Amino acid sequence: MNNQDLLHIAREFGNPVYVYDAEKIISQYQRLTGAFSKVKNLKINYAAKALSNISVLKLLNNLGSGLDTVSIQEVQLGLQAGFKPEDIIFTPNGVSLEEIEEVAALGVQINIDNLSILEQFGTKHADIPVCIRINPHVMAGGNTNISVGHIDSKFGISIHQMPHLLRIVENTKMHINGIHMHTGSDILDIEVFLYASEILFETAKQFKNLEFIDFGSGFKVPYKEGDIETNIEELGKKLTRRFNDFCKEYGKDLTLAFEPGKFLVSKAGYFLAKVNVVKQTTSTVFASIDTGFNHLIRPMLYGAYHEIVNISNPEGRDRFYSVVGYICETDTFANNRRIAQITEGDILCFKNAGAYCFTMASNYNSRFRPAEVLWYKGQAHLIRKRETFEDLVRNQVEVDLPLSGSKKEKEEAVGVKD
Ligand SMILES: *Cc1c(COP(=O)(O)O)cnc(C)c1O
Repeated sequence: MNNQDLLHIAREFGNPVYVYDAEKIISQYQRLTGAFSKVKNLKINYAAKALSNISVLKLLNNLGSGLDTVSIQEVQLGLQAGFKPEDIIFTPNGVSLEEIEEVAALGVQINIDNLSILEQFGTKHADIPVCIRINPHVMAGGNTNISVGHIDSKFGISIHQMPHLLRIVENTKMHINGIHMHTGSDILDIEVFLYASEILFETAKQFKNLEFIDFGSGFKVPYKEGDIETNIEELGKKLTRRFNDFCKEYGKDLTLAFEPGKFLVSKAGYFLAKVNVVKQTTSTVFASIDTGFNHLIRPMLYGAYHEIVNISNPEGRDRFYSVVGYICETDTFANNRRIAQITEGDILCFKNAGAYCFTMASNYNSRFRPAEVLWYKGQAHLIRKRETFEDLVRNQVEVDLPLSGSKKEKEEAVGVKD
């Protein structure tokens, strides 16, 4: 899809608007399955929280993907999109036993990440197979906001707690059918990943009835020029060899599972916003756009970098801009960024807006969440309408408190006199 296609979509559906290129999602899915084609049983479980629009879930279901979910609501979205319960895995953190029981009752594979719930669940439901989430204590990447396998992380059961875990399994006679890790969203180094995998294999040997080993995700996607990208092909080669050897040793063809979010959908997304105001100050030129961290919070929340292109004037002379939102907070998308000359009314395009963008949107400042459009073979399909005022007030209950001495009481009193 090119700039003209994007401009056309902004004209047709209004702005701001999220656009997803289905073909990019498809090619990323195929790239990943291609890299692991020598694994007999491979399972990709798309991490729904990255982008959970039902039409996107349907696309992934049609490709043969499973679904990784973190809330019962995501499970329900998956079921609505047509995923079979057995193709869904539930990998929550810190949710109640009741929610886990409810999800298990739907026939979804559950994954437990703490000993307290494991013991309670195993005591009540020894017959339901459970996957365990292990924390291998490996630091993948440098940013502690998104590296979740390290020692201080709240995610997973520490490998150092293995003796206690084994005792719980023995006492409850529960069935552990999978081992899982997810070391965070920033695997820079394949060697680090393989090192963590060795810990997972060691752990796996302790369980006799496994069906799968889930290596989570954390594939790194480039957001700007010069960013490192996980070399999936090399990881595929190295991990496949190691995994196949392990299966021989284990005496059974296990399933190798992954649960990528970003890798599958990040690059496919574009976020289009219109420039409301160009404001020259003593220090910079601000371009204020008709959106804010209510629609795209990653730059403010994680300091994430999103490339911004002025698709209305792509050939214009580059100038330096601070791109800011219209929210009454500091909501800076980009500081001192080189962008082709901006005029009020231009459409700016944010790249890599597929993962953790719309799903993190809110109604802050009582703004509507934007529309979403899925692009496939030259056609734009609206997959979410822009919100309306009705959406904002839908669940509000208007209560008019009977304040004594209030304006209303006085008006009524005057009314009685008359
Ligand atoms: C968020 C999440 C993922 C997806 O991570 P990406 O970096 O988007 O690939 C995978 N597994 C679990 C358990 C997650 O919480």
